[in-house]
Amino acid sequence: MNLTLRLRLLPNGTQTAKLLAVMERFNEAATFAAQVAFEAKVYSQPSIHKLAYRAIRDRFGLSAQLAVRAIGKAVETFRRDKTVGPVFKSRGAVTYDERILSFKGLDKVSLTTLDGREVIAMVFGEYQGARFDRIKGQVDLVYHAGQFHLYATIKVPEDPGIEIRGFLGVDLGIVNLATDSDGNVYTGEPVEKTRQRNHGARRSFQKTGTKSAKRRLKKIAKREAHFRRNENHVISKRLVALAKDTDRGIGLEDLKHIRDRITVRAKDRAKHSGWAFGQLLAFVTYKATLAGVPVLTVDARNTSRTCNVCGDCEKSNRKNQAEFLCKHCGHSENADRNAARNIRDRATLRWPDLAAGVDPRLKPSGNLVASPRL
Ligand SMILES: [Zn+2]
Repeated sequence: MNLTLRLRLLPNGTQTAKLLAVMERFNEAATFAAQVAFEAKVYSQPSIHKLAYRAIRDRFGLSAQLAVRAIGKAVETFRRDKTVGPVFKSRGAVTYDERILSFKGLDKVSLTTLDGREVIAMVFGEYQGARFDRIKGQVDLVYHAGQFHLYATIKVPEDPGIEIRGFLGVDLGIVNLATDSDGNVYTGEPVEKTRQRNHGARRSFQKTGTKSAKRRLKKIAKREAHFRRNENHVISKRLVALAKDTDRGIGLEDLKHIRDRITVRAKDRAKHSGWAFGQLLAFVTYKATLAGVPVLTVDARNTSRTCNVCGDCEKSNRKNQAEFLCKHCGHSENADRNAARNIRDRATLRWPDLAAGVDPRLKPSGNLVASPRL
């Protein structure tokens, strides 16, 4: 599995100028290489190298490897389209590799600029579990909205490798963002509070409709998205840590089912329209992959109306948003936890080593169906 890490750089004033300078020169050189190649109708790295390398070194003052990478940028573009000679944006991405970039611990990176190496501070908060020695191949330096980021691809093993003793089921919701089968509740309260606080402001800006109002609306949206992202990171981290510490995999509903389910509750959807389930699922998946925790998604149809004790499935079993009360056996439980336990059991049934140990009463019967897709 390939993951893309985004690392934010924190260059000081001098370093910012140096990074912008190398960026502009690199893209000029890439454009030059592309034009020479386009005129000569050659599109491969060695043939463009023969025509343009010397000139790039002399004219643009790039290091040998940066010159090679500038040619590489032209080659990549020709791979997609040979009908035009591309002109690159002056502050487009610069491609680095291990010869011109090296990580210094978790918080610094050394980059080749026009005048030698520069050691630049960086933030590595979001991906503590990732390992730099897994970064393979190229790393892109990108400048956007006044900030520099590195985009690096890391390879992580797809085989989970760890022996699990069960599953932690996770039910995603709108009142509680996530509830697990152990009964832990992960609220989206901070996110919802921010949304509500901004609600009035958003309304009045929408009515005004002026340019500055639009700008401020955009700002609010950006801040909320940032907040949500943080919250999703916190929740996914806790879920993965819990599963790993207890030798369990994680069972989740598939996104399609969540969408179908959320569509039904139009009233709630309007209230929570900003919530991104997809992002939470993606975060859980990549953090789990990094931690070696297997994740299974299950078809979670009817998990909210099926009794986890007797398997009875009826719409009326769900007394209200919060409570589950089984008409058949009288089992009563928090509704989200009951759903999370159904998800846990469906995931367990899909895991061959564990399926045999599942209480036979929970085996598929009636509408409680384990997904046949393994
Ligand atoms: Zn029951």
